Formats: sequence, structure tokens, C-alpha cells
Amino acid sequence: MEYAEVSVNSPVAQRRTFSYAIPPGLSIDVGQAVRVPFGDKLLQGIVLELSHYPSVEETKEIASVIEPRSLLSPSQVLLARWISEHYLSPLFDAVALMLPPGFERKVDTFICSPPTLPEHDVTSLTPRQKDVLELVWRQGKVSLRELERKLGARQARLITSQLIAQGLVVKSYEMERVKVKPKTVSYLCLAVKASEARQEAASLRGERATRQAALLDFLAQQSQPVPLAQARQRVNCGKAVADALVSKGLANIESVEVKREPISYEGITPSYPLILTTAQKSVFKSIQSSLMSAAKGHPSPTVFVLYGVTGSGKTEIYLQALAEAVRLGKRGIVLVPEIALTPQTIERFASRFPHKVAVLHSKLSLGEQFDEWQRIRDGEFDVVIGSRSAIFAPQSDLGLIVIDEEHEWTYKQHDKSPRYHACDVAIKLAELTEAVIILGSATPDVETFYHAQIGDYRLLELSERVTPSEGSPLPQVEVVDLRQELKAGNRSLFSRSLSRATAKAVTNSEQVILFLNRRGAATFIQCRSCGFVLRCKRCEVALTYHLAQDVLVCHQCNYRTSVPQICPQCLSRRIKFLGIGTQKLEQETSFTFPQARLLRWDSDVTHRKYSHEEILGKFRTHEADILIGTQMIAKGLDLPLVTLVGVVCADTGLNLPDFRAGERTFQLLSQVAGRAGRGILGGQVIIQTYSPEHYAIKAAAKHDYALFYNQEITYRRQLHNPPFSQLASLVYSHTNEALCQREAERMKRLLIEERDSRGIADLSLIGPAPAFIHRLRGRYRWQIILRGSELFTFLSPIPIPQGWAVDIDPVGLA
Ligand code: ADP
Ligand code: ZN
Ligand code: ZN
Repeated sequence: MEYAEVSVNSPVAQRRTFSYAIPPGLSIDVGQAVRVPFGDKLLQGIVLELSHYPSVEETKEIASVIEPRSLLSPSQVLLARWISEHYLSPLFDAVALMLPPGFERKVDTFICSPPTLPEHDVTSLTPRQKDVLELVWRQGKVSLRELERKLGARQARLITSQLIAQGLVVKSYEMERVKVKPKTVSYLCLAVKASEARQEAASLRGERATRQAALLDFLAQQSQPVPLAQARQRVNCGKAVADALVSKGLANIESVEVKREPISYEGITPSYPLILTTAQKSVFKSIQSSLMSAAKGHPSPTVFVLYGVTGSGKTEIYLQALAEAVRLGKRGIVLVPEIALTPQTIERFASRFPHKVAVLHSKLSLGEQFDEWQRIRDGEFDVVIGSRSAIFAPQSDLGLIVIDEEHEWTYKQHDKSPRYHACDVAIKLAELTEAVIILGSATPDVETFYHAQIGDYRLLELSERVTPSEGSPLPQVEVVDLRQELKAGNRSLFSRSLSRATAKAVTNSEQVILFLNRRGAATFIQCRSCGFVLRCKRCEVALTYHLAQDVLVCHQCNYRTSVPQICPQCLSRRIKFLGIGTQKLEQETSFTFPQARLLRWDSDVTHRKYSHEEILGKFRTHEADILIGTQMIAKGLDLPLVTLVGVVCADTGLNLPDFRAGERTFQLLSQVAGRAGRGILGGQVIIQTYSPEHYAIKAAAKHDYALFYNQEITYRRQLHNPPFSQLASLVYSHTNEALCQREAERMKRLLIEERDSRGIADLSLIGPAPAFIHRLRGRYRWQIILRGSELFTFLSPIPIPQGWAVDIDPVGLA
């Protein structure tokens, strides 16, 4: 093959590859990293394909190979292309997901003096120009970024181009510094025989070089090289002493590459497979037979949905299925939500596969991530466990992919390109590698469950907890109608029921969790007397309150209205109620229960690395009686002393302008309700709400997924929402609001034209309207929502300018 199709690390490359000629003598493979000339720069690229013919007439040559080994496997190359097509993301963004951590390097632009300076009267320059020129002369070269910092982007560019035009400076490019390197440790060993060393030591002592002598004696006692740091510590000497021995030819210093390891196996004892229950056995058999037929080369592409309540033994199934895959000569990848990737979770896997488990997640240092990546590629691990991006680990011989808590929205990358969903990517990867995949959950995503219902996926069920007698049954859930509280004259955040139960638990030295769903609070207006929420008459979604203009806006159709003075439903004047914050709740809690010790847990207090664990640790050791928190405390953590969980207001999530609001509320409440009563003390859950009749709240209170699913899927069908259609959101952001709106309107017209000229019937366009997060980092955001099918095919040929963010299958509010 003489040509390579290369995905180039440049923003202008977009979704395409570029043809390069392979210079004679250079051997190039698919997946390899190369340097290629691109414009006047030399950029990183990854070879995605080899061919006999270039796709354009004129080609440049590949400049050099960055690393001899391929970085992407052939199936990863296909996966990257799929991601780029499906999510309409630049190809290199997709490729970059699979590269070693820290590999990606941009190019920095510098200005420096040209080889020959022109005859030029510099006195005619402006003071600014002169300053810049002098800086270049003084430093030799100046990075454009530095100039931009000093002068502002526009000035820096202007002055640079003026100086270039006069031939006083030229541009040059350099690759960014390497971000991460292999870690090395220096070892010290003798360069002579031990006996010789002892003699030398004796004579050194005569020369009063006692430290050198001591170090030499120490080395003579060692049977193998010693880490330099350890030797220095033992003899208590500086590095100069070791260097002196080296220069005398008595010792050598060798640098040895070591791996930074995120898992410490100290204290982890091996664990053995449990004897499966009857229900587990039948689940396991199905997975096993799929694994075996795949290993025999008759893959029957299978996506399993493992639906089982918390404690039903799903994780044991994962462990045994992984062991089976390993027995068949394969390896596995396990995804868990970032927040569930606790030391306990890792230990559970590491103890079953000692020294054979790699972890990958964003909290590791870049060095740790880099080393794990290298070792995974070297085939050192049977199992890779990690968060979302671990699906891109270079795990060869992939036989099994497990996604635990597959309903978690954090599996979707929503804030940067590519806006991929790890479940969909994993299903595609399983298809490409003929691997088996298990999607596990106690409350499966509605779309996943639908696919299982109609037979696209295979449903496996574990309907009971493994040890119902030992653990307590699912907790009692009481739903409190807040409207009744107000009627009875109770204006506190605590209903009478919650207040009583809290007091009782605290008196009994038990623990309480108060849960506040803060997401979306303060964005809608609710009547405090009857719970009425103002909605858009056309779109049915709650209107969002914009404090700055004191106006209500529909984030789907841009309908606007002022805030009413009285409630249209009950005529109460207490209409303008904006929800509760954690601080307010904390104040009222300490006022109502002065004897209780409080602990607050929300994102304001937990951005440090280990503070989740610290706060939990404090609560677990009973340093506090009441834990107040948001979303985060809903995750599966065992807290045996907790006997009461109070959901302070369940409605916030229901009133978000999002068709998944019901699903999100159900998921969250189910998780919260599963929280209490995990210990031997049993537990109680109290959900406070203004809409006790809402199906999501009712179903969560009964721990009844089927009840929720049946209602939800009916609504989805009626309203033609996913899985009965596909959605895409297009968000445009700009510092100028009017311009932002105009561009959104222009785009909508363009999309309608395209739709009509291509005769597509089942495509509807919603908006443009201000995005839910209307202003982000100083930019206004407007949004268009598309509903139809195969939206990436529709959007693919349409030119979408800079400033637009396209999200195919969005999961939340943009
Ligand atoms: P899930 O992942 O569904 O929450 P786990 O696999 O964590 O469930 O199981 C819940 C508890 O039951 C764990 O403590 C686990 O060790 C135990 N367990 C699971 N399967 C068995 C089994 N077959 N025999 C005995 N104990 C089991
Ligand atoms: Zn009212
Ligand atoms: Zn509307």
C-alpha cells in the first residue's frame, strides 16, 4: 500500500480523513500515530486506512512515525468512524477518546526573527509594535499565546500580522510539551566485585571519604540493585556521594521504568465464586451459552438486559460471567458510574481477579492513567473497570462488556464533543468485536427496557434479593401531601410526619438523611398553597422563571408571560415560590432539631478529591445525626444506622421542561427509597410532595418499576418521544443575544428547507427558543430540537457553522 488515510488533529479537519503518501522505506499500519504536514504546520495524525490510491490527486508525504506500535485496534478504528458519523463529531475527537492519556498535543504558534532581517527603519513603528519586536529580539521567540495574554487576542494578532507584513518577524510552530512521561526510578549497584568494593571502602576510609566508604560497604552487602533513594537513606548521604562512586567506576546508576499503580492490593484477600441461587443460575446459563458460542466463532450478537433490584446478586453474576470469559481466553470491560467507583467496588473485583484488574477514571493522576493504559494494551489485565471513558480502553480479546446501572445519565458525555452515550458505544463495540454485553439495572432506562420488551435485547430478571431474611425488606414509603400540611397551618419545610419521625430517630441514636433535589429548583414558579405549576399551553412543559426580567418563558416554543399575582387554581397569593436550597434546609433543620448534629453534602462542599469519602466516613462513624444532601447521596452506599430518609420536596424534578422529567424523578426516588433500611434496623422513607397522584411518585413509593414503565411508555408513544422517535438538539451560543436568536432562526429556516426539499415527512422542528441554561460563561444560548428518525443522516450534509453544538440523543436539558 502506498497511501494512508489519516485523521488529523486539527479543528478544520472535521469529519474527514486526508490522504498522505507513505515514503519508501517507512512501514505504516492502521491505527498508528504519525506526524503529517498540514497547511504550514506539522500535526499529529492517526492512520485509519491504507490504500493503493489517494483520494485526491496531490498528496504530501507522511513526515514521521510517532510510535511504532499501533495505538488503535482495527475495531477501534471502525468504532471511531461510527462515533464521528453517528454523533456528527469531528473525526479526531472520536479518535482521541482511544489514545493514551496525555497523548494529544496541540501545536503552539511562535513569532521569531526571520533568517535575514530586512533593511528597515524601526523608528517608524508604533510603540506597541516596537515593544513586541524588542520582546522577540530579547527572547529569541515569543509564543502567540503569551502575546495574547499581554495584549488581548485582537491586538496580538493585529500587531503580529503588521510585523510579518513588514518582514520583521516570521511565524513558526512547535508541538506542545509532552504532558506525561513514563516514571523511572534510579537503581544503584556495584560495578565491581563485592570483595573489591570492600577493599576500596577501606582505602576510601583512609582518605577520610567515610560516606563513600559506607555506601560502598552497604552495596557490597546487597545481592541486587537497590533503589538509589533507599540506599541514600540507609547510609544518610547525598546524591553527590553516589555520583562520586560512579565517576570512580565503582558503581552504576541505572534508570528503570516503573508503573504507577492506582490499586493497592495490600489488604485485599482473594475471594471465591459464591454458589449461585436458582434465579442467578438461570441468568448465568444464558450469558454463559452466549459467551461460549461467541468463543466457538458462532457469535449471536447479544445484548442482555439484567433487571434486578439492588441486592439481587447482579454483581455476582458480572463476576462469574467475567471469570467465564477469561476461561474462554477473553477479557472484559466493566463500566460503573463515576460516583459508584468507590474503593469497595474496586476491591470486590480486585479480590476476585487478584492483580488482574485495571482501573480507569478521571480522578487518577495523568501518570496513573497513562501507565494503566500502557499495561492494558500490553494485555496485563483480565478486567478493566472504570467510568464512562473506560469503554475506550485498549483491551484486546474483548469477550464481555458489563455496564452496571446502565440507566445513569452520566454515561452520556453531554458537555463536549463527541456527545456520545457509553451504552450505545458499548453496544456498537460489542457488535464489532463479537463480544457479549450486559446492561444491568434495578430501574432500567425506559428505552433500554423497551428494546428488551420487543426482543431487540434479551431480558434477564432477578426479582428477589439474595438474602431477604438477613437484610431487611424494602423500606416502607410514606407519601405526604404538602397541600394538606398548609391547610393544617403547617408552613415549615417539615411535614408533621417527617418532623415526628426525625425527632424519634435522633432520640434513638439512629441516623437520618434529608434529601433535596436541587436540580431545577428556583427555575419554575409554584403555588405554595396548592402546588400548582404554570405550564405552557402548547407544550405542556413547566414555564421557566427568569429572575432578571421577572418573566416566565417556555423553553420549547419561546412563549412568554408575566408572573401572575394570584394562583389561577386556588386564588392564593402565595404563588411565587421558588423552591428550597440546601442552606435554607440546613438552617431550618438546626432550628427544628437543635440537639441533632448536622452534616451537609452537596457539590458546594465536595469538589476536593476525596471529600465524598471523608463526608461519608464522618457520617458512617456517627459523627453526625442528620445528613443533608442533594443528588449525590442517592447512590448505592451502605449506611447501617440510617433508619429514615426524608425527601423534602419531590416535585422539583417533575417540573423540568424535559420529556424525561418523570423518568428522572422515578429513578432518583427509587434510589433514595432503596437507601434506607439496608441495615438491620429497618427503615422508613417519607416523600413530601405537592403531586402525590403523579405516577412517577406513586410507583417509586411502591418500589414498582413495572407500574412506572407501563405508564411512561404509554406517554412516550402518545407524544412520539424516544424510543418512538429520535431527538437531536442544536444549541447556538453567542455573546450577543440578538445575534444568537437570529442565527437560530436562520438555522431553523435552513433545516425546514432541507427537510421539505428532501421530502422527509416524519421530522418536526421545535423552537428556536432560549436553551434551558440560557446563559453560560457569558454566552447566550438558543436551541432547536429535532424529532424524527435517523437524524444524523439528515443533518450530516448540512453545513453547521462554528458556535453550534449538536447533540444526537440528548439526555438532559442543554
Ligand atoms: P447487586 O449487584 O444486585 O446489588 P450483589 O451481587 O451485590 O447484588 O449481591 C448482594 C449481596 O448478596 C452481596 O453481599 C453478595 O455478596 C451477596 N450474594 C450475591 N450472590 C450470592 C449467592 N449466590 N450466595 C450468597 N450470597 C450472595
Ligand atoms: Zn394555588
Ligand atoms: Zn411552549
